[in-house]
Amino acid sequence: MKKTGKILFIVAFVTIILFACAPLAKKTFLGTNHQTTTKKVKKLKKKTPHKVTWGYPFERLYHKNIKFKSGQKFGETDILRRPDKKSYFHDGYDFGFSEVGHSPVLAVHEGTVHKVKYRPGMGLYVWIISKDGYVEIYQEGFLSITDIYVKKGQHVKLGQKIGKLTGSHIHLGVTKTDKHYIDKHGDPCGNWWKNNDTWLNPMKIIEDNIAEAKKDK
Ligand SMILES: [Zn+2]
Repeated sequence: MKKTGKILFIVAFVTIILFACAPLAKKTFLGTNHQTTTKKVKKLKKKTPHKVTWGYPFERLYHKNIKFKSGQKFGETDILRRPDKKSYFHDGYDFGFSEVGHSPVLAVHEGTVHKVKYRPGMGLYVWIISKDGYVEIYQEGFLSITDIYVKKGQHVKLGQKIGKLTGSHIHLGVTKTDKHYIDKHGDPCGNWWKNNDTWLNPMKIIEDNIAEAKKDK
């Protein structure tokens, strides 16, 4: 083969190889480009993660999966806690000292203390109103006023110690009673025992919020 012939042969060979590789190169390039776009989208999504705005009322609940078999859960139940007899509506969630200990009670949601008072049936209680319209009531668990660490008008953050459980259990009630609701149904405490959407399931709100935040991690 002459020198020019050799060069032409090489040029033709390289051209064929390049054409053959073109679709592969395009695919690889597009693939990489696509991946970069997906990463960018993911990054944008990460910029607005779900914020944890609710928490457990006791530290132990973060570390231990307590079933609260001996305490009363929210909803239709009965005083003797027989699961087959659904005769009574429990408007909150009870956290018994045998499960959570005589330990500090933590604010489950940020808000401002509306009342710290005593009321027969409730005992000493802490009533907190949150900016997003939720109302949280911690009742029956404080035997003495010195077991409560917050006062009326005080702003409390999520997880802040609001007192210490000294009684047999604390009853946590959560309601979302705005002015419109109160005009129609009155004081949420006037709606005790009534399953009319005044009282919400505290554990569901807390655990749904924690689970949402975990999904974003
Ligand atoms: Zn209760």
